[in-house]
Amino acid sequence: MKRINQSEPLIEKEEKRAVMEYLNSGGWLTEYRRTQEFERMIANQVGSKYASAVTNGTLSLAVALLVIGLERDAEVIVPDYTMISSANSIILAGAKPVLVDISRDDLCLDLDKTEAAITSKTKAIMYVSINGRCSKMEDLLTLVRRHNLLLIEDASQSFGSKYKGKSLGTFGVLGCFSFSPPKIVTTGQGGAVVTDDEELYHKILLMKDYGRPKSGVDYYETVGYNFKFTDLQAVIGIEQMKKIGWRIHRKKEMFKIYHDLLQGTPQIEFVETDLNDCTPWFIDILVEKGREKLISFLNTVGIDSRPFYPAIHTQPPYASAKGDFENSEYISKRGLWLPSSLSLPDEDMRFVCQKIKEFFKN
Ligand SMILES: *Cc1c(COP(=O)(O)O)cnc(C)c1O
Repeated sequence: MKRINQSEPLIEKEEKRAVMEYLNSGGWLTEYRRTQEFERMIANQVGSKYASAVTNGTLSLAVALLVIGLERDAEVIVPDYTMISSANSIILAGAKPVLVDISRDDLCLDLDKTEAAITSKTKAIMYVSINGRCSKMEDLLTLVRRHNLLLIEDASQSFGSKYKGKSLGTFGVLGCFSFSPPKIVTTGQGGAVVTDDEELYHKILLMKDYGRPKSGVDYYETVGYNFKFTDLQAVIGIEQMKKIGWRIHRKKEMFKIYHDLLQGTPQIEFVETDLNDCTPWFIDILVEKGREKLISFLNTVGIDSRPFYPAIHTQPPYASAKGDFENSEYISKRGLWLPSSLSLPDEDMRFVCQKIKEFFKN
């Protein structure tokens, strides 16, 4: 039986050819000119002045937090529903994550609860635009200004997504992206930090290269680490960036196909999605009842699906977190990701939807 993966990377002939050409060119694999080219493409795509590629998305968040300079007991607000990386990166940067509930309409931070969680130690908000959605950017920016906080965007799931025409990742002082295999552009591992702030950009360059201002010269201005990217990955990223228009278009088209085919299935709900701005990275649905049964039924007919992330406060490292997490609990128990690969043909999407309908009929 043929299996349909929930997610798999799309690597085409252009990427393969570029890797071979690069290897034949005698490149040193590590970060150099190809990475710079990839970074320029990222900055152009999102409309930021600077982009710096780093090892992965988790580290892009950690680097962002490290360069803004957090005191030991600084608190950073982060949603209780997101990939665990968002919260863990705050700990990696030496600060304290404060989990806050999400709102049901866009699955992003609930701004009233966010405001209530602000203390004298709160330094930043890490806003995660889940699946390319964000419906309250203006209110968020007002709140951030009112409390004199820094906004760091975890836009890992939002490459290609916008708010009123402006790219997500460019509203915060720093915006972070991931290029892991399920993401819309993937280099295996990879991430990027974007900013318009020259000073922060220079701090990132030092931070990712052991603290030295010049590669190959052993003078270290600050304590830095090694969060660098590689040219070997950059050549793959560059080829995908050349096709980013199609990749974005296809994700939107896929969402629309699923959305239209699953109309009239009352057991399933879609999160409101404006495809002008939003490029859904995964096809996400909410299943009111019987999600686990649906997952196993789909599995028996060769379809992989994946439940949403658990609410972070339910995981062992965050068990002591306190608060009202009503919506993140509600969403993580009902959310389901359907097959979402860019390589998925329309007929497979029709098959998935047909099987979902079949399940709910019985
Ligand atoms: C993918 C993702 C990350 C982590 O990125 P990695 O590249 O896997 O480290 C962080 N936050 C969110 C919201 C993500 O979806």
